[in-house]
Amino acid sequence: MTEVRTRFAPSPTGYMHIGNLRTALYAYLIAKKNNGKFILRIEDTDQERYVEGAIDVIYNTLKLVGLQHDEGPDIGGPYGPYVQSQRREIYSQYAKKLIDIGGAYYCFCSKERLDALRQECERKGIPFKYDGHCRNISREEAEERIKRGEQYVIRQKIPATGTTSFHDEVFGTITVSNDSLDDNILIKSDGMPTYNFANVVDDHLMKITHVVRGSEYLSSTPKYNLLYKAFGWEIPTYIHLPLIMKPHGGKLSKREGDASFEDFYNKGYLKEAIINYIALLGWSPGTDEEIFTLEELKQRFSIEGLSKSPAVFDINKLRWMNGEYIRSMSLEEFNELAMPYYKKAIKRQDIDYMKLSRLLQTRTEVLGEIPDNIDFIEELPDYDVNMYANKKMRTDLNNSLEYLKKAYEALQGVDKWDDEHIHEALFKLIAELGVKNGQVLWPVRTAVSGKQFTPGGAIELSSLLGKEETLRRIKIGIEKLSNV
Ligand code: GLU
Repeated sequence: MTEVRTRFAPSPTGYMHIGNLRTALYAYLIAKKNNGKFILRIEDTDQERYVEGAIDVIYNTLKLVGLQHDEGPDIGGPYGPYVQSQRREIYSQYAKKLIDIGGAYYCFCSKERLDALRQECERKGIPFKYDGHCRNISREEAEERIKRGEQYVIRQKIPATGTTSFHDEVFGTITVSNDSLDDNILIKSDGMPTYNFANVVDDHLMKITHVVRGSEYLSSTPKYNLLYKAFGWEIPTYIHLPLIMKPHGGKLSKREGDASFEDFYNKGYLKEAIINYIALLGWSPGTDEEIFTLEELKQRFSIEGLSKSPAVFDINKLRWMNGEYIRSMSLEEFNELAMPYYKKAIKRQDIDYMKLSRLLQTRTEVLGEIPDNIDFIEELPDYDVNMYANKKMRTDLNNSLEYLKKAYEALQGVDKWDDEHIHEALFKLIAELGVKNGQVLWPVRTAVSGKQFTPGGAIELSSLLGKEETLRRIKIGIEKLSNV
């Protein structure tokens, strides 16, 4: 059996789009499930789009998420070079060969002529299509003109009549009429190939068996198929992946911070959760299961589970999944991961971070939100006194003041400052006063945090802050309430 070989062929754009990472993941999984090879190829023929450091972004992201390639620019392999800009000679040879066998031709049309043609199409309201002006220039004439120094490109010669069919594993069999296809440029005037040519030559020479890519390439695939046929090359298995849309339509966009892996990673989404989530953007295991490690995905992934309907990128689902990963960690692991976020908000030395982690682990969905949730630990915010009044807790500004004063006294008498003893003191007070728990706990929680929403209640927060600081903050609360 032939070895399964897939490739990830990103263009160095400077960031890893979520859709590209999904392509990489699926290509990786298809290779690994079949004990095959996963190849990394850099598609940098569009030199105008060159971005400094962009290739490192690709290496670093793949490494970080664990999609280790078996061949690629940095590790070599039998079919290199794996960077397209280093393969110019190869494309040029194959383009000439294609001209020899009648699958391509030299085109000398000037920019002005093409612009005029484009305008004409626009006026008529039809999509631009090259009119075949140079299709029938003889080989001799073409070579003569090139010798004279005329600028040229090489175009694909699409059959004028008939249809082209290809099969895609996800989208089924697609047939198009050849007259709807454009004689695309294969080699540009600067000698660089276009994606349209390079992808076919490379996939063939690198022995790629399964071409996995986004469905935006689906409409060009008939042209690629014609190239394979013209060369007499074996056609790979095509696997085009569905679009990824936002819940209310539209594409994910870098500007809105919802398109790149880095955006999510830097916000404090775990790499495992991101990978797990994007695995399900277009693939389903056929059951209700949703949590998969990369190892599990290697076993479970199957081409049959791919869907052609657009996948919806649901940030709430990703948040939930991230929370699931956070909750499944050990406390120590969570504490270590959360530490950089703690340090952003807290400079005080006397905080028991394990205690804080115990509070936060079950309440955190995205690590990046930790600093805002715990900023009150460092410094009591200047809060609105009306926060003490809470209908549900049956508190108003008067009873809050009264119970807060009592709580102050009760807490002053606590010798061993921990959850258990603080709990004992406050509940004893609640019993003595004969009030609802919330009538004492809400004012205390408000006084120690100054916030509506906190990770933990009055007892946990007081315990975390320490006796002195807790009493200091309650005193501030009493003063605030007294001045109303
Ligand atoms: N270089 C293309 C891109 O970044 C890859 C297309 C493909 O996978 O063939 O979109």
